[in-house]
Amino acid sequence: MTKTNFKDYKLSNEILKSLEMLNFKNPTKVQEQVIPVALQNKDILVKSQTGSGKTATFGIPLCELVDWEENKPQALVLAPTRELAIQVKDDIFNIGRFKRIKACALYGKSSFAVQEKELKQKTHIVVGTPGRTIDHIKEGSFVTDNIKCLVIDEADEMLSLGFIEQIEEIIEALPNERVTMLFSATLPEDIDDLSKRYLKNPTKIEIEAKTLTVDRIVQVAYKVEENAKINLLKDVTIVENPDSCVIFANTQKKVEMIYNELTDLKYPCDKIHGGMEQDDRIKVMSNFKKGYFRYLIATDVAARGIDIENITHVINFDIPVLRENYVHRIGRTGRAGKEGRAITFVTKADDRRVSEINSYTGRELVLRQETPSRKSVKKLKAEFERKLSEKPEVKMSKGASMSCEIMRLHINAGKKTKMRPVDIVGTLCSIEGMTAEDIGVINVQDVSTFVEVLNNKGEMVLKTLQTKNIKGRPRKVTMVEM
Ligand code: AMP
Repeated sequence: MTKTNFKDYKLSNEILKSLEMLNFKNPTKVQEQVIPVALQNKDILVKSQTGSGKTATFGIPLCELVDWEENKPQALVLAPTRELAIQVKDDIFNIGRFKRIKACALYGKSSFAVQEKELKQKTHIVVGTPGRTIDHIKEGSFVTDNIKCLVIDEADEMLSLGFIEQIEEIIEALPNERVTMLFSATLPEDIDDLSKRYLKNPTKIEIEAKTLTVDRIVQVAYKVEENAKINLLKDVTIVENPDSCVIFANTQKKVEMIYNELTDLKYPCDKIHGGMEQDDRIKVMSNFKKGYFRYLIATDVAARGIDIENITHVINFDIPVLRENYVHRIGRTGRAGKEGRAITFVTKADDRRVSEINSYTGRELVLRQETPSRKSVKKLKAEFERKLSEKPEVKMSKGASMSCEIMRLHINAGKKTKMRPVDIVGTLCSIEGMTAEDIGVINVQDVSTFVEVLNNKGEMVLKTLQTKNIKGRPRKVTMVEM
């Protein structure tokens, strides 16, 4: 019998409720095949395309299997980039929200001490990039004794980024008695080797896409001289008039150049590349996800796995150096059943790359000799300028529908005044109509505490706490915007 409903997997009510709130009605193909196996604690090697619902494929079983009572981390997910680590952590947080799963992300170029503090609190699931994960293991801040499950996400990308030794070092630090899941978009020989060395009799699941590039994405390529690219970009954006667009270039310098050009023309845009501070990169991605601007100019740091709703266009200002990156880049659009357009600029020097991409995707990238005509650019310019001056529509975050039911409260007391989660639970449960089931994630920091109140009871709790003592004293309690 094929499973078509999450209820068939005997998931707990808390997880089912999150899936319902996330509007995950039925499992995707990869979820359908992997979740039942993962729930039986078996090792799995999964080949699956980006955008297939891969994160929830391991996120759901991880959230289901962790024991809430246990304070030390029970699962580790390794991801190749910082952006992906943060995104996976957020997705896991949403899936585990009603079970009050605590997930934390470890990644470089960001405060070690802050991550260390997070790890000291109850943490069920750790998502990390290899380098920083090793640092925390070495420092003793990430205790791995209780890790029961390891997920290696985007394994092919990890290996091509040269992370193999670090991954092995991490695996050596984990208990032998554990489940390992390896996810990869492709299964080259080195992935096979990795799987042979570290997976025990794995179930191999391959989700074959008909072609590597998603059929919903319309792919167009323009022949252009290098020095005419910027003008072509201007014309193409006018003709296409995207709602939300990622423009990929191969170097940081070019990203900067395009960003400066488009900023001068008042395009609502921002940029992301590896030369920027991590905090700035996170902010840019977050603002783009929220739809605060329409054009993101990026190097390949933004190409992999990043899931942003409703990107209508991807423009390859430069054809990618690696053919795999073509698939990842254009996979930013056409997600979750939507249509997308991918436009690639091709110079004379790119012929070899085009044929490599063609043989890799099994499709012929049709080259247009004609760039948009002056007439059509002129005709469509007014409409383009109208959209440029209009504020983009703000996108709802994936967890937004949940937030209607959940209110996050800030209490102005924390560890320094000896506040503990149990004090918060005690106070909240003493409010009439409240039970432990209505309390979500509690995060006690130095001088602040954050607590989530579930099941639409936030207003009532907030009102009551204006006059009720917490740990013997009145405290300032406010709602936090989510
Ligand atoms: P991923 O491949 O993990 O990047 O997921 C691609 C997109 O599909 C994300 O926006 C997920 O939130 C969404 N998604 C994952 N599983 C489901 C599902 N069962 N139903 C609907 N959307 C899903």
